Amino acid sequence: MARMEYDWENLDFGYRKTPWRYVSEFKNGSWDEGRLTEEDQITLSECACVFQYAQTVFEGLKAYETKDNRVVIFRPDLNATRLADSARRLEMPPFPEERFIDAVKQTVRANADCVPPYGTGATLYIRPFLFGTNPVIGVKPATEYQFRVFTTPVGAYFKGGVKPLVIKVSDFDRAAPHGTGNIKAGLNYAMSLYPIVTAHEEGFAENMYLDAATRTKVEETGGANFLFVTKDHKIVTPKSDSILPSITRRSLMYVAEHYLGLEVEQREVFLEEVPDFAECGLCGTAAVISPVGKINDHGKEIAFPTGMEEGGEICMKLRQTLLDIQEGILEAPEGWIQEVEL
Ligand SMILES: *Cc1c(COP(=O)(O)O)cnc(C)c1O
Repeated sequence: MARMEYDWENLDFGYRKTPWRYVSEFKNGSWDEGRLTEEDQITLSECACVFQYAQTVFEGLKAYETKDNRVVIFRPDLNATRLADSARRLEMPPFPEERFIDAVKQTVRANADCVPPYGTGATLYIRPFLFGTNPVIGVKPATEYQFRVFTTPVGAYFKGGVKPLVIKVSDFDRAAPHGTGNIKAGLNYAMSLYPIVTAHEEGFAENMYLDAATRTKVEETGGANFLFVTKDHKIVTPKSDSILPSITRRSLMYVAEHYLGLEVEQREVFLEEVPDFAECGLCGTAAVISPVGKINDHGKEIAFPTGMEEGGEICMKLRQTLLDIQEGILEAPEGWIQEVEL
């Protein structure tokens, strides 16, 4: 294959158009057979439901090269199910789950020249999304939809070593109880833009959101789940119906238990008890785990004993184990790694 020539080691997390994308349209109650296209522009009615009422949901996963030069994707079945769950919550027709995986594979295969070489830390980020396309002015679901998948090569999340983050406890809420916090919808991100821009201006990398009802319990950041390590090496992650179920976090919990023999617990986590944890990390597809060094709670600093130079021992061990599983260095649980036949 004639690999594209990017500066793989220095790519940022940005959009770079690749040649091919997948489109399927939903009309008259059913999805068409779908196709690959080179057309990256979308022309819709000014009154399309996605523009007026934000009827759109998305997914994010990555394709990457393994040591033995295969191109693989990580647990796409979970993305397929989560997109379908997100779609149902916004009254959208779910894209069939087995077709989701096929569409992702077709798109990656068509853009195989854009898959970063093994060892660069870069990956081909895959963005499947679904949105209402026909004009809707009275508030109701659209009747026509598009499901699309595009890819974009992105660089390693951490360049020159994993560095702990400083984050703040936000005064804004991310998700209401019984709201849409547990689905991957654009609307959850629109409302997080003001808090994240403000947090960045104040010098913080992310916001820690608390539960909206009592503002005493840890939820998640704008785009990553929390994972804590107790002083006696138990892994704890917050339990709440308004947290987005991160595939990375679920995978890390499995790895902690079954590969590292650690005790794991999903339970309510109170902000009050956070200073007692030994380590803290943020879990998501892009970074796997980003260690957190400090949390600023209205001027009061929670500093983890792991410090600001490197990530905590358990977090880094978990991160490396999952990376080794993803890269085929360690044997993966059944079905976790799916090859894209080129
Ligand atoms: C996508 C996302 C995550 C991370 O999920 P992964 O499946 O691990 O990438 C966490 N929180 C929110 C709000 C998200 O949108």
